[in-house]
Amino acid sequence: MQKKQFQAESKRLLELMINSIYTHKEIFLRELISNASDALDKMYYKALIDSSIKFNKDDYYIRISIDKDARTLTISDTGIGMTKEELESNLGTIAKSGSWDFKQSNEQKEDINIIGQFGVGFYSAFMVARHVQVISKAFGAEQAFVWESDGVEGYTIAPAQKDTAGTDIILTIKPSSDEENYDEFLEEYKIRSLVKKYSDFIRYPIKMLVTKSRQKEGTKDEYEDYKEDEILNSMVPIWRKNKSELKPEDYEKFYEEKHYGFSKPLSYIHLNLEGITSFRAILYIPENVPFDYYSKEYQKGLELYSNGVLVMSKCADLLPDYFAFVQGLVDSESLSLNISRELLQQDRQLKFIAQKIKEKIKSELLNMLEKERDKYLKFFKNFGKTLKYGVYANFGADKEDLQDLLVFYSSKEKKEVTLSEYVLRMPQDQKYIYYATGESIDRIAKLPQTEAVADKGYEILFFTDDIDEFAIKMMGKYKEKEFKSLSESGDLGLDNDQKDEKKDEKYKDLFQKAKEILKDKVKDVRASQKLKTHPVCISSEGALSLEMEKVLQGLPDNPGVKAEKILEINTSHDVFRALEKAYQDDEPKFELYINLLYDQALIIEGLAVADPMEFSNNICKLMV
Ligand code: ADP
Repeated sequence: MQKKQFQAESKRLLELMINSIYTHKEIFLRELISNASDALDKMYYKALIDSSIKFNKDDYYIRISIDKDARTLTISDTGIGMTKEELESNLGTIAKSGSWDFKQSNEQKEDINIIGQFGVGFYSAFMVARHVQVISKAFGAEQAFVWESDGVEGYTIAPAQKDTAGTDIILTIKPSSDEENYDEFLEEYKIRSLVKKYSDFIRYPIKMLVTKSRQKEGTKDEYEDYKEDEILNSMVPIWRKNKSELKPEDYEKFYEEKHYGFSKPLSYIHLNLEGITSFRAILYIPENVPFDYYSKEYQKGLELYSNGVLVMSKCADLLPDYFAFVQGLVDSESLSLNISRELLQQDRQLKFIAQKIKEKIKSELLNMLEKERDKYLKFFKNFGKTLKYGVYANFGADKEDLQDLLVFYSSKEKKEVTLSEYVLRMPQDQKYIYYATGESIDRIAKLPQTEAVADKGYEILFFTDDIDEFAIKMMGKYKEKEFKSLSESGDLGLDNDQKDEKKDEKYKDLFQKAKEILKDKVKDVRASQKLKTHPVCISSEGALSLEMEKVLQGLPDNPGVKAEKILEINTSHDVFRALEKAYQDDEPKFELYINLLYDQALIIEGLAVADPMEFSNNICKLMV
């Protein structure tokens, strides 16, 4: 029979699995049972909505069998099964696109990240098996098929004999070596303890014929072995249990089993609401950012169960976009099973559940912010952008909900602070919430325009994310206090405006001349109110800030809009004396100085100099 090759990515993953030194090889069983449970879910759902399918509750189960002589461990399910095409596409390729890219960027952690936490489930069988056989018959199909592989060399698919729908996964367990004990995967006690450890919450019975011992009839102390079917798992799904029965490890294990994320959850919420609409939910905030989180591929959503039956694996309507990072599930008796996806969106119950979930996540986050600041900052570092987009999106419709979850780096505290903390600390005479933008904290700290405000003793918030200023402009105010950018020209609320207007008047002609030299590069040239030790800075006027211009220019569909730039000059600086002198008696020199000052201001602000050659030539002119 002709051997087919695995897709290149799958092949490399398989190699990794086969040669794995991963210490938790035992998780292969959890993976295979979890797949079996999914297949049963699909069958269960099909039978529920199609009354012509006659299925009994007892018809759904998973069976594990051990054959020590043949060294096989078999995991069978009575689930939906796979057609020949499905065997090919599901087991010949990695299901989750992108997981390989992720691996590449995390080379060192590869073993744990890929094997332990990813949705590469089925392949984990190759960590313990030297040969894998999958005999499957899809529900409704006439013919069963067998998929077989020894690993990287490829696989074969052929017709097979199987009476009922479902799947048998037959693993031929590797021989034990000095380093590795594989024999234990052929021991009943081991399998039983692995099921208890990893798969206790599976809702379908996991059966196994186990060996028991009894007194031989008619004897006093003679015993004999016999086999008896046993259900190895407790079958109560975790969300149906009481919170008091569960330990943090249980939630963590469930998170892993469900592949909600790699590594551990940062926090979890177990909800149990009774009322006209009752539901239970387990929600997780991941500790790390999913590899595809900030890509288009990422889909938000929660698993939706109706009275224990999985209806949808990613119900997007249950989560607002700004909580897209939340993982987990919802189970409600109040939802109708037959409801179509379109109708589900309109469903009042679903809306109610979504509302409650949203409130609960918010209060959980606020609670973390208040009581576990470090943990919150870790969260915010990973997902804060999502919250800020939430403030900005929908024309600010959700800003009230989200504003107290934001934190920004503070010039005074040298760490992240909330807006409420900022406002509470504001001195009586401070009118605005000040902020400065730039690509890093260090860079902002050196911005000339922060000087005057900082000298006044006012706190400045540092904005380093592209979205920051957009979000804040959408908010406009926080607790009646207006936000003020230090890169904005004009009144900064520092009580020295009068004086400066006089300065502008005094040097009117000089500034006019400077403006003519710079032509349409700037809207105006003015005496600065905010500079102390630096000679120049650029500020902006109008709705679009310099930072926003930078962000918009970086977009693929660059709208080509420009901020209205003002060149501010420090009239108390020695440089200004030189400028005045040149203005009076050396026109070319004045022109040179103005161009240089302008280019310097651009560079400080992190904007590109339009003509670097000219800039360089100008400096040379100064030197010779
Ligand atoms: P994942 O479960 O994360 O999708 P796997 O590699 O474990 O990735 O499985 C790939 C696919 O193979 C599954 O999505 C499912 O469609 C199919 N599959 C695996 N095991 C079974 C099974 N026991 N019954 C039916 N389908 C299965």
